[in-house]
Amino acid sequence: MTTRIEAAVLLADPGGPTQTNQTITVADGRVAAVAPAASAATSGNLVMPAFVNAHDHARVVRNSQIGNFDVALEAWLPQLAAIPAVDPWLTAAVAFGRSACAGIATEMAHYTRVQGLTAYLDEAQAVAKAARDVGIRIAFAVQCRDRNPLVYGAQESVLKRLSPAACACVSQKFLGAPLPAAEQVALVEATAAAIEGDGVTVQYGPAGPQWCSDDLLSRIAESSAVHGRRVHMHLLESRYQRAWADKTYPQGILRHLDALGLVNSRASFAHGTWLGADEMELIAARDATIVVNISSNLVLRSGIAPLAEMLRRGCRVAMGLDGVALDEREDPLAEMQLAYLLHKGEGFETRMSREQVLRFALAAGRFAVLGDQDGGAIVPGAAADLLVLDWDALTADRLDDTVPPLDTVFSRARRRHVKDLYVAGRHVVRDGTVTGVDLPALEAELLTTLRRRFGATADIRAALPDLRAALGAHYHPDAFVCS
Ligand SMILES: [Zn+2]
Repeated sequence: MTTRIEAAVLLADPGGPTQTNQTITVADGRVAAVAPAASAATSGNLVMPAFVNAHDHARVVRNSQIGNFDVALEAWLPQLAAIPAVDPWLTAAVAFGRSACAGIATEMAHYTRVQGLTAYLDEAQAVAKAARDVGIRIAFAVQCRDRNPLVYGAQESVLKRLSPAACACVSQKFLGAPLPAAEQVALVEATAAAIEGDGVTVQYGPAGPQWCSDDLLSRIAESSAVHGRRVHMHLLESRYQRAWADKTYPQGILRHLDALGLVNSRASFAHGTWLGADEMELIAARDATIVVNISSNLVLRSGIAPLAEMLRRGCRVAMGLDGVALDEREDPLAEMQLAYLLHKGEGFETRMSREQVLRFALAAGRFAVLGDQDGGAIVPGAAADLLVLDWDALTADRLDDTVPPLDTVFSRARRRHVKDLYVAGRHVVRDGTVTGVDLPALEAELLTTLRRRFGATADIRAALPDLRAALGAHYHPDAFVCS
């Protein structure tokens, strides 16, 4: 099937100029041709490569829904236990549907929250089906973890601070014995055998070095090399992870991971908020990818990742939303703007160029998620992952027609301007509406289900305030605590 898309403005490539009045021809999932339109465009469209969300978790519940705002990462994570288990297809379809509406064609689903209502492989199949029903490409990263379930290091002092009831509940919820390392690795390959293909790939998803034993990490590295399978993990997200890593691996956490065989082109590391210069250089030298999540880091009090410095040192850096948007509505356009504003530089000095920001948001993540360099540009032969913005709405109040289009995109484009999304040529979003599923109906059903089942987490929710206070005292004993 051949599709023609008219572009009043075309941003074909992060490094190239914008063009006007072009026709893009799509056939068999790829861009077949880009040529000047036969007549002056009347479409009112800006067409650009679709976004990549290179770090996320198929999450749907927002912080303000469960009282998890303004909480540091280490206390925020256990608070997620307040969310009741729901049907995995429903929750994943809502997550991916929201992503599609925001202009995301490709997403990492680091599957850290297992609903557990069915067998794992059945759940993975449901998530893969949700991605296919919506129509976006995903990498499903199977979470592996086997240590430090509550804090980085010994947890006894935290448990001692809890009331007996809270301690029993927290122990039951978080301190169960993990699966043996060999079984966790085998589960990744079994998941791949069950769900890979048709827009879905599988990656190893070690939760992070503080949550994975060396035994588990080295088995993952070995199996990743044998199968050529990619690895996605959190790395140095918070100051407390940095402190733990420095104490545990005085030779350097990156050197340690490198010695295990985990720093290579198959690897992508989420966050890197607290990476040092030599660590960035090692990541660049090994051709690994960093995925920076700016809004998430701000909301969860993790800090500001040195994005411009990573680029200066030669790292490939991709953009992630991590399920934590600034205003709780996933918006890669807003995230790209925030990245640019934070890192472009002061005065007349430029530390991060527009081309670099566009590569960060549109191209670099394709390598991390899909493992290939295809796409991220609208040129003949490339994957037809295209985003159409409402150019008329973006420029409705413009005075000067010579304003560069990218000025407009960087200063005001938001998800509400997304008109259409094509993924491999498939019309996944049409006039702002997801075509493959009824997203508003699914969101309503999900909310009803979450409310109905909320009582199921009453016991852990009763223990969480105690736990949050104990974690604060553990990580930061002399901190001012805001009540
Ligand atoms: Zn994450």
